[in-house]
Amino acid sequence: MDHASTTPMAPEVIEAMKTAFVETFGNASSLHQPGLAARGALEEAREGVAGLIGAKAEEVYFTSGGTESDNFAIKGVALRNRDRGRHIITTSIEHPAVLEPCRYLEQQGFEVTYLPVTKEGLVEVDVLESVIRKDTILISMMHANNEIGTIQPIAEAGSIARDRGIAFHTDAVQTVGKIPAKVDDLGVDLLSVSSHKLHGPKGVGALYIREGTNIEPMMLGGGHERGMRSGTENVPGIVGLAAAADLAGRNLEGDMTHLAGMRDRLAEFVLVRVKDSWVNGSRTRRLPNNLNLGFSYIEGEALLLRLDAEGIAVSTGSACSSKKTVASHVLTAIGLRPEEAHGSLRITLGRENTDEEVDFVARAIVDVAEKLLAMSPFRRS
Ligand SMILES: *Cc1c(COP(=O)(O)O)cnc(C)c1O
Repeated sequence: MDHASTTPMAPEVIEAMKTAFVETFGNASSLHQPGLAARGALEEAREGVAGLIGAKAEEVYFTSGGTESDNFAIKGVALRNRDRGRHIITTSIEHPAVLEPCRYLEQQGFEVTYLPVTKEGLVEVDVLESVIRKDTILISMMHANNEIGTIQPIAEAGSIARDRGIAFHTDAVQTVGKIPAKVDDLGVDLLSVSSHKLHGPKGVGALYIREGTNIEPMMLGGGHERGMRSGTENVPGIVGLAAAADLAGRNLEGDMTHLAGMRDRLAEFVLVRVKDSWVNGSRTRRLPNNLNLGFSYIEGEALLLRLDAEGIAVSTGSACSSKKTVASHVLTAIGLRPEEAHGSLRITLGRENTDEEVDFVARAIVDVAEKLLAMSPFRRS
C-alpha cells in the first residue's frame, strides 16, 4: 500500500536482469564480443524506454534514478543558460529532488519563483504565465505529485513555455508507467523517470532531453551517454528498467482501470465510516493509484504504526524526528493547518494488489481510526 515510495520488481524484470547479469556483463564501451553484447542490450533498452514516453532513443540518457535526473535537468539547464537569464520557475509542492537543486541555485545567484497551488494541489496556468519574466530560463513542474497524486496541467504549461522559448522540465517519476506520459503530448523538453517506481530495480533512471536543448553534462569522465553522463553503464539495471517499461506500456489501460477501481472502493469504505475524514488533493485530476486521506483528531504516525502491526505498509504526511514533528510541505501548500497535515495517511496501490487486500486494508483503517479516535484528547464529543 506504499507504491509511491517504491514498488516490488515484476517477475519479468527479475528474469530480464538475471539474463543481463550473466550474458551481458561486458563493458558497453569495449570493442570485443562481450562489450558488443552489452552495447546491444543497452541500446535495445534505450529504444524500449524511449517507446514508453514517445521519445527518440537518442533523446534518452540513463542515470542513477529520479533524484539524479532532476538534478541533471535543473542544474544542467540553469548553468548552461546563466548568461541568458537567471530566473527559474517551479512549484511549492515539488519533490525534494527538485526543490533542493533550486535552493542550491539560489545560493549561486539564481532567482527561483515557487508557484502556489490551489486547495486541490493544482497549479493555475494563468498564475504561471503572470510570473514569467524576460530572464526566465527554466520551468520545472512535476507531472503528478507523490503525496497527494494531483496531476498538473503539463500540456498547457508546456505550450506557454514553448511560445516563450523557455526550457520546460517535468518530474514524471510518479506518472511514467501509470498514466500516459508522452513527451510530445506533454510538450516538455526534459522529463525525469525512476525505475523503482514502476516495478523496476532501484538506482536506475532516465532523463529525456529533447534534441537541441541547451544543457550541461551531469558527469564528466569517459564520455558515456553521448558525453552527458559519464560512467560505465549499469547494463543489468537499465535492462530491468526497460523490462519494467515494456510491461507498464503493454498493460497501461488495464492497470489504470484496476487501480482506480481499488482506490475508489477504499475511499468510499473509509469516508462513510470514519467521521471527520476527507480526501487530500483533487478527486478528478488524480493518479489512479493514489489515495491521500485526512483524519481529524488522529495522528497519522499512530495510524501508520498500528497498520504496520497488522502487516499493512502505508505512509503519512508528517515525519516525526526525535525532537519535533514536521508537517509535509505539500499538505501545508494546499492549505491544511499543521494539525490537519499530521492526520494524513497516504495509500498508494500497485498492479499486484487485489480487491481482497483492499477490503482488508479498508476495514483495518476504519478499526484503527475508531480506536485512536476513542482515545484522542482533542476530539469533541
Ligand atoms: C521517488 C521520487 C523521486 C526520486 O527518485 P529516486 O529514483 O528514488 O531517486 C523524485 N521525484 C518524485 C516525484 C518521486 O516520487
